[in-house]
Amino acid sequence: MSFKLAIDGGTPVRSEPLPPLLRGALMIGAEEKEAVGRVIDGQAPFRYYGRDLQRYVELLEDRIAHDAGVPYALGVSSGTAALVVALKALGIGYGDKVIVPANTFTATAGAVIVANAVPVYADIDESMNLDPRDLERVYDDEVKAVIAVPINGTPCDMDAITAFARKRGIAVIEDVAQSLGTLYKGRFAGSIGDIGVYSFQMQKILTAGEGGAVVTKDAALFERAVRYHDQGGFRDKARYEIETNEQNGFVGQNYRMNELAGAVLYAQWERLDGIVTAMRQRHRSVRESLATRLPQLKLRQSPDPEGDTGSVFGLFLPDGGAAVRFAQAVEAEGVTCFRMYGGKPIYMTPYLLQKRTAEKGSFPFDYPFRQPVDYAAGMCPAAEQLLARYVHIPISPTLTERDTSDIAEAVVKVYEGLGFS
Ligand SMILES: *Cc1c(COP(=O)(O)O)cnc(C)c1O
Repeated sequence: MSFKLAIDGGTPVRSEPLPPLLRGALMIGAEEKEAVGRVIDGQAPFRYYGRDLQRYVELLEDRIAHDAGVPYALGVSSGTAALVVALKALGIGYGDKVIVPANTFTATAGAVIVANAVPVYADIDESMNLDPRDLERVYDDEVKAVIAVPINGTPCDMDAITAFARKRGIAVIEDVAQSLGTLYKGRFAGSIGDIGVYSFQMQKILTAGEGGAVVTKDAALFERAVRYHDQGGFRDKARYEIETNEQNGFVGQNYRMNELAGAVLYAQWERLDGIVTAMRQRHRSVRESLATRLPQLKLRQSPDPEGDTGSVFGLFLPDGGAAVRFAQAVEAEGVTCFRMYGGKPIYMTPYLLQKRTAEKGSFPFDYPFRQPVDYAAGMCPAAEQLLARYVHIPISPTLTERDTSDIAEAVVKVYEGLGFS
């Protein structure tokens, strides 16, 4: 091995690129094609009726509910739609606040605002997820829910989050968009809070290009979710033992999943176990190899390492400058290495920081909250510090043994070469 870093003109650890950063998308194959073919042959791309309806969305919902261990699952058009549906099922809207972790994708905060509520940001800990110890600080009696977001396959500390929510009488939403297959103490992430949300966008674990799902144990929440996603209606009364009538209707949206997406996702769902098992195994192999060679490495923590999907290998550098140099140098060695969200908390996104919405005036931020909502740099100091220092290497389920040993090699070479050890 060459000790001169590739970034300084040395020979890179790898000359072949690692597999692209997609999971389910790269496994789309004969099964998806066949299922989609049936929908086309049946001329029935709409989920509720058609010439020869294949009921793929229904089959998918049954699989999701079964594997999540909940009675109800609803396919929707995207993860963002699923978040809005979850918020509206809970009756959250104008005049409400929702706790959002400082580290998440923009859609978590965006969905709260689109639902006419406003986000308040809680800090994170070394799991890179919401720090339950910060919930009390951001809570006031205008807060109606907290959104737990397991980032890139690491579960949230759900015992502490649900204990806090119960004490304060607020709801728990799980935004599991990035983390399908994550377990927390043996329970399927998404099934632990009041309502859980998945995404099937292209970057996620399974995909139909776009798509999402909502899961819950609560029949009343489920009925409201179905109604919000389907123009206020509830068509499938026969399928559920839910007593309902049109008095329960309200103005909804169209966030329905179509049968083509349902067909692809029904076939993709069969691949979930294999993908997660493969990522966990490859994550373990990188971790074990580094544990002996670089025991001082500061790794991302997890409240339940067994339940982690292993979709990324995350670590902390001594400071922000070191993280930038480390990521660039590892990339130069031929190993993909990222900082998350530009190394900044989500509230630093200019339109979120400045409360810019598509609405007139400053709606929904114009609500006369008793405790005003103000955003500023420095709000969540741990998130600012941790995100600056954090980098991760994506772990593909298709990595070979050679690939995982190259990843470990690149980390050791750069960590030592940049003088961090
Ligand atoms: C991707 C993502 C979403 C949004 O899902 P879409 O299907 O793209 O709408 C929401 N939350 C998180 C944490 C995500 O990563």
